[in-house]
Amino acid sequence: MIAAIYFDPLAVHPVIEGEWHRMRSSEIPDPGRTITMLCGASGTTSFKPMSERRSREIPRQCVPCDTIFRRECGIPLPKDRTSRR
Ligand SMILES: [Zn+2]
Repeated sequence: MIAAIYFDPLAVHPVIEGEWHRMRSSEIPDPGRTITMLCGASGTTSFKPMSERRSREIPRQCVPCDTIFRRECGIPLPKDRTSRR
């Protein structure tokens, strides 16, 4: 029998070497699969409890992933918001 654990893909932000990224796929990848982020970085998936996310350091947001995500969603970039003040 399968015990399915459901995730919201929009809330999944894979961490690679201290940076959190956004995935292009709306599907949750299987463990051990190589996935590619919006910015082009790739890594092999490994699932861990959220309590371990900040155990070594607080992950930084990947700027290229954020820029691509914002453009695709029509969300102003942070620098554009501050320049209008
Ligand atoms: Zn990225």
